[in-house]
Amino acid sequence: MTQQTLNNDKAIVVFSGGQDSTTCLFWAKKHFSEVELVTFQYGQRHDTEIKVAQQIAEEQNVKHHLLDMSLLSQLTPNALTQHDMDIEETEDGVPNTFVPARNLLFLSFAGALAYQTNAKHIITGVCETDFSGYPDCRDSFIKSMNVTLSLSMDKDFVIHTPLMWLDKKATWALSDDLGVLDYIRTKTLTCYNGIIGEGCGKCPACHLRARGLNAYLEEKGAR
Ligand SMILES: [Zn+2]
Repeated sequence: MTQQTLNNDKAIVVFSGGQDSTTCLFWAKKHFSEVELVTFQYGQRHDTEIKVAQQIAEEQNVKHHLLDMSLLSQLTPNALTQHDMDIEETEDGVPNTFVPARNLLFLSFAGALAYQTNAKHIITGVCETDFSGYPDCRDSFIKSMNVTLSLSMDKDFVIHTPLMWLDKKATWALSDDLGVLDYIRTKTLTCYNGIIGEGCGKCPACHLRARGLNAYLEEKGAR
Protein backbone atom coordinates (compact mmCIF):
# COMPACT_ATOMS: atom_id res chain seq x y z
CA MET A 1 0.00 0.00 0.00
CA THR A 2 1.45 3.35 -0.96
CA GLN A 3 0.60 6.25 1.26
CA GLN A 4 0.48 9.87 0.34
CA THR A 5 2.71 11.99 2.57
CA LEU A 6 0.97 14.83 4.35
CA ASN A 7 1.72 18.33 3.10
CA ASN A 8 4.18 19.81 5.58
CA ASP A 9 3.37 23.38 4.46
CA LYS A 10 -0.34 23.06 5.06
CA ALA A 11 -2.33 23.76 8.23
CA ILE A 12 -5.94 23.57 9.37
CA VAL A 13 -6.91 26.11 12.04
CA VAL A 14 -9.82 25.41 14.39
CA PHE A 15 -11.55 28.74 14.06
CA SER A 16 -14.38 30.50 15.89
CA GLY A 17 -13.81 34.12 14.92
CA GLY A 18 -12.80 34.97 18.48
CA GLN A 19 -9.61 36.66 19.67
CA ASP A 20 -7.71 33.43 20.32
CA SER A 21 -8.45 31.51 17.15
CA THR A 22 -7.99 34.62 14.99
CA THR A 23 -4.56 35.12 16.55
CA CYS A 24 -3.91 31.47 15.65
CA LEU A 25 -4.98 32.15 12.06
CA PHE A 26 -2.32 34.85 11.71
CA TRP A 27 0.25 32.70 13.51
CA ALA A 28 -0.53 29.94 11.00
CA LYS A 29 -0.24 32.29 8.03
CA LYS A 30 3.21 33.24 9.25
CA HIS A 31 4.40 29.63 9.56
CA PHE A 32 2.63 27.78 6.75
CA SER A 33 2.15 28.63 3.09
CA GLU A 34 -1.28 27.02 2.90
CA VAL A 35 -3.87 27.67 5.61
CA GLU A 36 -7.49 26.58 5.81
CA LEU A 37 -10.05 27.22 8.55
CA VAL A 38 -12.65 24.98 10.11
CA THR A 39 -15.58 26.34 12.12
CA PHE A 40 -18.02 24.11 13.97
CA GLN A 41 -21.65 25.05 14.05
CA TYR A 42 -23.33 23.69 17.17
CA GLY A 43 -26.03 26.10 18.28
CA GLN A 44 -23.80 28.92 19.41
CA ARG A 45 -25.49 31.57 21.51
CA HIS A 46 -25.29 33.92 18.57
CA ASP A 47 -25.31 33.31 14.85
CA THR A 48 -23.09 36.37 14.83
CA GLU A 49 -20.21 34.05 15.76
CA ILE A 50 -20.56 32.16 12.47
CA LYS A 51 -20.95 35.37 10.47
CA VAL A 52 -17.84 36.88 12.06
CA ALA A 53 -15.86 33.73 11.28
CA GLN A 54 -17.05 33.78 7.67
CA GLN A 55 -16.21 37.44 7.27
CA ILE A 56 -12.68 37.08 8.64
CA ALA A 57 -12.07 34.06 6.41
CA GLU A 58 -13.23 36.06 3.41
CA GLU A 59 -11.16 39.11 4.28
CA GLN A 60 -8.06 37.00 4.82
CA ASN A 61 -8.73 35.04 1.66
CA VAL A 62 -8.52 31.62 3.27
CA LYS A 63 -10.63 28.58 2.54
CA HIS A 64 -13.29 28.12 5.22
CA HIS A 65 -14.93 24.83 6.12
CA LEU A 66 -18.15 25.11 8.11
CA LEU A 67 -19.08 21.82 9.76
CA ASP A 68 -22.45 21.08 11.29
CA MET A 69 -22.02 19.82 14.85
CA SER A 70 -25.54 20.60 15.98
CA LEU A 71 -25.75 17.17 17.61
CA LEU A 72 -23.74 18.70 20.48
CA SER A 73 -26.73 20.73 21.57
CA GLN A 74 -28.70 17.50 22.05
CA LEU A 75 -26.27 16.53 24.78
CA THR A 76 -25.54 19.79 26.53
CA PRO A 77 -28.27 21.67 28.30
CA ASN A 78 -26.03 24.55 29.31
CA ALA A 79 -25.32 28.21 28.88
CA LEU A 80 -23.60 28.08 25.52
CA THR A 81 -26.49 26.49 23.74
CA GLN A 82 -29.55 27.28 25.89
CA HIS A 83 -30.07 30.89 25.11
CA ASP A 84 -32.04 31.71 28.23
CA MET A 85 -29.43 30.48 30.72
CA ASP A 86 -26.98 32.71 32.52
CA ILE A 87 -23.27 31.99 32.46
CA GLU A 88 -21.80 31.27 35.84
CA GLU A 89 -19.20 29.13 37.51
CA THR A 90 -20.28 25.89 39.17
CA GLU A 91 -19.06 24.65 42.54
CA ASP A 92 -16.28 22.50 41.09
CA GLY A 93 -14.80 25.49 39.25
CA VAL A 94 -15.87 24.37 35.78
CA PRO A 95 -17.92 27.11 34.12
CA ASN A 96 -21.43 26.09 33.05
CA THR A 97 -20.31 26.99 29.54
CA PHE A 98 -18.56 23.61 29.58
CA VAL A 99 -19.71 21.34 26.78
CA PRO A 100 -18.50 17.83 27.63
CA ALA A 101 -16.13 16.38 25.02
CA ARG A 102 -16.49 19.42 22.78
CA ASN A 103 -12.81 19.81 22.06
CA LEU A 104 -12.35 16.06 21.75
CA LEU A 105 -15.00 16.05 19.02
CA PHE A 106 -13.76 19.22 17.34
CA LEU A 107 -10.20 17.95 17.13
CA SER A 108 -11.38 14.58 15.82
CA PHE A 109 -13.23 16.29 12.98
CA ALA A 110 -10.38 18.73 12.39
CA GLY A 111 -8.15 15.65 12.10
CA ALA A 112 -10.51 14.00 9.62
CA LEU A 113 -10.52 17.22 7.60
CA ALA A 114 -6.72 17.41 7.76
CA TYR A 115 -6.60 13.88 6.40
CA GLN A 116 -8.97 14.73 3.55
CA THR A 117 -7.13 17.92 2.65
CA ASN A 118 -3.70 16.36 3.18
CA ALA A 119 -2.68 18.89 5.84
CA LYS A 120 -0.02 17.79 8.30
CA HIS A 121 -0.63 20.56 10.81
CA ILE A 122 -3.65 21.27 13.01
CA ILE A 123 -3.75 24.48 15.04
CA THR A 124 -6.00 25.20 17.98
CA GLY A 125 -6.12 28.21 20.28
CA VAL A 126 -6.72 26.27 23.48
CA CYS A 127 -5.00 27.61 26.55
CA GLU A 128 -4.26 26.19 29.96
CA THR A 129 -3.17 29.50 31.47
CA ASP A 130 -6.47 31.33 31.67
CA PHE A 131 -7.86 28.64 34.00
CA SER A 132 -10.96 28.22 31.89
CA GLY A 133 -11.37 24.93 33.71
CA TYR A 134 -12.01 22.94 30.55
CA PRO A 135 -10.14 19.63 30.88
CA ASP A 136 -10.00 19.10 27.12
CA CYS A 137 -8.07 22.35 26.70
CA ARG A 138 -5.13 21.13 28.77
CA ASP A 139 -1.75 20.39 27.29
CA SER A 140 -1.80 16.75 28.44
CA PHE A 141 -5.08 16.19 26.60
CA ILE A 142 -3.79 17.80 23.39
CA LYS A 143 -0.66 15.63 23.43
CA SER A 144 -2.80 12.55 23.97
CA MET A 145 -5.13 13.63 21.15
CA ASN A 146 -2.18 14.14 18.82
CA VAL A 147 -1.11 10.53 19.37
CA THR A 148 -4.68 9.27 18.99
CA LEU A 149 -5.33 11.16 15.74
CA SER A 150 -2.06 9.99 14.23
CA LEU A 151 -2.70 6.36 15.21
CA SER A 152 -6.33 6.44 14.07
CA MET A 153 -5.43 7.51 10.52
CA ASP A 154 -1.83 6.25 10.35
CA LYS A 155 -0.56 9.77 9.60
CA ASP A 156 1.98 11.95 11.36
CA PHE A 157 -0.18 14.89 12.31
CA VAL A 158 1.20 17.72 14.43
CA ILE A 159 -1.19 19.66 16.67
CA HIS A 160 0.07 23.16 17.47
CA THR A 161 -1.19 25.20 20.43
CA PRO A 162 0.53 28.60 20.13
CA LEU A 163 -1.50 30.03 23.03
CA MET A 164 -1.23 27.12 25.46
CA TRP A 165 0.97 28.89 28.03
CA LEU A 166 0.00 32.49 27.29
CA ASP A 167 -2.29 34.61 29.42
CA LYS A 168 -4.60 37.12 27.72
CA LYS A 169 -2.01 39.88 27.97
CA ALA A 170 0.58 37.71 26.23
CA THR A 171 -1.96 36.74 23.55
CA TRP A 172 -2.45 40.44 22.78
CA ALA A 173 1.32 40.83 22.67
CA LEU A 174 1.52 37.97 20.18
CA SER A 175 -1.10 39.59 17.94
CA ASP A 176 0.91 42.83 18.07
CA ASP A 177 4.08 40.91 17.11
CA LEU A 178 2.14 39.46 14.19
CA GLY A 179 1.11 43.00 13.20
CA VAL A 180 -2.63 42.43 13.68
CA LEU A 181 -3.45 43.87 17.09
CA ASP A 182 -5.93 46.42 15.71
CA TYR A 183 -7.51 43.88 13.38
CA ILE A 184 -8.12 41.46 16.24
CA ARG A 185 -9.28 44.25 18.50
CA THR A 186 -11.99 45.42 16.12
CA LYS A 187 -12.97 42.40 14.01
CA THR A 188 -13.17 39.45 16.39
CA LEU A 189 -16.01 38.33 18.63
CA THR A 190 -15.38 37.16 22.19
CA CYS A 191 -18.39 38.69 23.95
CA TYR A 192 -21.07 36.29 25.24
CA ASN A 193 -23.64 38.90 24.25
CA GLY A 194 -22.61 38.80 20.61
CA ILE A 195 -21.08 42.27 20.30
CA ILE A 196 -18.05 42.44 17.98
CA GLY A 197 -14.79 44.11 19.00
CA GLU A 198 -14.76 45.64 22.47
CA GLY A 199 -18.01 43.79 23.26
CA CYS A 200 -20.64 44.56 25.90
CA GLY A 201 -18.03 45.21 28.56
CA LYS A 202 -20.10 43.36 31.14
CA CYS A 203 -19.85 39.62 30.52
CA PRO A 204 -16.98 37.43 31.86
CA ALA A 205 -15.47 37.07 28.35
CA CYS A 206 -15.38 40.84 27.89
CA HIS A 207 -13.81 41.32 31.33
CA LEU A 208 -11.06 38.81 30.59
CA ARG A 209 -10.38 40.29 27.17
CA ALA A 210 -10.34 43.91 28.37
CA ARG A 211 -8.16 43.14 31.40
CA GLY A 212 -5.55 41.50 29.17
CA LEU A 213 -5.67 44.24 26.58
CA ASN A 214 -5.37 47.04 29.13
CA ALA A 215 -2.47 45.30 30.84
CA TYR A 216 -0.71 44.89 27.51
CA LEU A 217 -1.31 48.47 26.35
CA GLU A 218 -0.11 49.78 29.70
CA GLU A 219 3.07 47.77 29.45
CA LYS A 220 3.56 48.80 25.83
CA GLY A 221 3.11 52.47 26.71
CA ALA A 222 5.75 52.16 29.40
CA ARG A 223 8.38 50.77 27.03
ZN1 LIG B 1 -19.52 40.91 26.57
